[in-house]
Amino acid sequence: MTLATLIDGKRSAEALRARIAERTATFRDTHGLAPGLAVILVGDDPASAIYVRRKGEQCRAVGMESFPHLLPAETGEAELLALIGRLNRDPAVHGILVQLPLPAHVDTQRVLAAVEPAKDVDGFHIVNAGRLALGEPALTPCTPRGCIMMLRETLGSLRGRRALVIGRSTIVGRPMAQLLLIEDCTVTIAHRHSRELPDLCRAAEIVVVAVGIPELIRGDWIRPGAVVIDVGINRVPDPTRPGATRIVGDVAFEDARTVAGAITPVPGGVGPMTIACLLQNTLDAAEAATRHTGGASTHRHEDTLVY
Ligand code: NAD
Repeated sequence: MTLATLIDGKRSAEALRARIAERTATFRDTHGLAPGLAVILVGDDPASAIYVRRKGEQCRAVGMESFPHLLPAETGEAELLALIGRLNRDPAVHGILVQLPLPAHVDTQRVLAAVEPAKDVDGFHIVNAGRLALGEPALTPCTPRGCIMMLRETLGSLRGRRALVIGRSTIVGRPMAQLLLIEDCTVTIAHRHSRELPDLCRAAEIVVVAVGIPELIRGDWIRPGAVVIDVGINRVPDPTRPGATRIVGDVAFEDARTVAGAITPVPGGVGPMTIACLLQNTLDAAEAATRHTGGASTHRHEDTLVY
């Protein structure tokens, strides 16, 4: 039996970070400052704190500046908006990321809308979402951007491929579908109300799954040779270790890899590329900012998937 090629997100992320580090060094030499990423965390959710710390470490590792803003859980919306206003005006800050979820007393949409679109490295601002929908240059959400990079590495051109995106969230599914459309795929979007999901899967040459249901997509739904990108992260009981848990994706990996042509593992697939793409977005935002202020022009680079 031939098993699918593993799409190694860790290795892709490492290679991407190396390219980012090189371009960051050039940026520093040219402009006398490093691309800077401000990360705002409100409250002390341990998982969010780990993410924020990891983002800071990875920033510094590629030579970028990291500006963490760790605020107490009771921080008011006005205070948060004032901080975002200061970061919007700060020329040392090229990217601003607000770690979600925010506490319930804060209006998340209002806070995200306050981030200057040119510094919106999460790509969640309505201006960037709108630009992406129009196929215009935009900062795009990190997870779908990482998925597109892995698909390109696996398949080369995506033109004309039948792609199925399962899930329509604003963070993953919708921008993923927009990016695939820009890549000239024929795109179908499935969601919780879609009928005949197995048949939709069987027709697809590319399947991107972002649902959050452990192993929803069965091996025999996959078209032989298809490329499967599993975004899902689900914690489930580990049958081999009583009381312990393990992480699985939205695809029944062991079965799917006997049919697919290539597949991302979970963990080690999409996850590592997501943070690397945050760094890429920060670098893109920094380079764009210097272009807008009349700095040295930078050429369009293969990694710069700013459409
Ligand atoms: P979400 O809950 O916002 O959206 C889930 C989507 O799945 C919805 O659009 C819904 O319609 C659809 N859905 C639900 N049940 C379905 C079904 N039975 N059939 C078809 N579609 C169905 O989730 P999200 O934020 O997009 O995240 C999805 C998963 O991806 C989660 O497991 C999340 O943890 C993971 N995730 C991973 C990364 C990463 O970096 N690897 C990043 C973001 C999200």
